[in-house]
Amino acid sequence: MRAHTVILGAGATMAAIPNGDRNGKKSSVMNGMIKKLGLSDLIENIKLNTKSDNLEDIYSELYLKPEYKQIIFEIETRLYRYFSSLELPDEPTIYDFLILSLTEKDAIATFNWDPLLIQAYIRCSEITENLPHILCLHGNVAVGYCKEHKERGTKDAICPICKKQYPPTKLLYPIKNKDYKNDEYIKKNWEALDFMINNSYMLTIFGYSAPSSDKEAVSLLKNAWGNLQDRELEEVSIIDVIDEAEIVDKWKDFICSHHYRYSINFFDSYLAMFPRRSCETVFATYSFNMPADNSKGFYQGMDWNDLYEMIAPLKNDEMITPKNEMLPLYYTDKK
Ligand SMILES: [Zn+2]
Repeated sequence: MRAHTVILGAGATMAAIPNGDRNGKKSSVMNGMIKKLGLSDLIENIKLNTKSDNLEDIYSELYLKPEYKQIIFEIETRLYRYFSSLELPDEPTIYDFLILSLTEKDAIATFNWDPLLIQAYIRCSEITENLPHILCLHGNVAVGYCKEHKERGTKDAICPICKKQYPPTKLLYPIKNKDYKNDEYIKKNWEALDFMINNSYMLTIFGYSAPSSDKEAVSLLKNAWGNLQDRELEEVSIIDVIDEAEIVDKWKDFICSHHYRYSINFFDSYLAMFPRRSCETVFATYSFNMPADNSKGFYQGMDWNDLYEMIAPLKNDEMITPKNEMLPLYYTDKK
């Protein structure tokens, strides 16, 4: 079975900690970020062309003017510090569900700098080690990378070869023309994503509204996905709080006629309805008309025990099925 690739934007982190993180800190989209980071005083006396309070717009403008180098450095430092401080609450979050909904043939590629997805990955690996690849498309405050040995890991871990603690990865800041090839770690993540998308049967875009400063990113994604006429069987899903017509229009270059699923809530997505078998189940439904039972998946309010018990039979199937065979269709009726 081919892969399921999930692309995450800021909306996904907001869905993961709707009431703030462990310490009540909220993540945020770029609007209002300047105030939140206490940067208002810094840019107060600067005459900006942009009227927007969006960090991406402000950063982009300052970045182009060499006299604001020090302010740019200060913004970067505060952003890095703020995102590093975020911590997951104890109970399972959407990020835990998301990670457990996929397996090692799949990938989650995130545009987010925050460490929450990585924190979820670490605790979910105690339930199963059969987890998706994580790709950080704009760098991540929780990830380190050893340039010399091309190894990566969490920032507090050590490189298995030189035994030195991983240096932090650079964050790719919101300038209009981003260079995805300049930083080796980010470049490698994009290459891996290109491969994954190419080999995907399903593509889910979660909380990522393709802001105008990400033009280059969207065109890279489109290149990887290829022509629509070659993607007639594939299934694209969108999870977003943005109105359906608006968000579908943004992603129209990825969607073949009406072949897509839109949901506001993660729990109504294929990922949550058919965890760990989304591709298998959707393929069986569309190609063989096999009805699927959507009552066996994740639901809101599950605790760690519920999750552990729900995953157990799926995990068992994964362990006993030879690698070259198709996994049993867990969610289709066996009548
Ligand atoms: Zn090393």
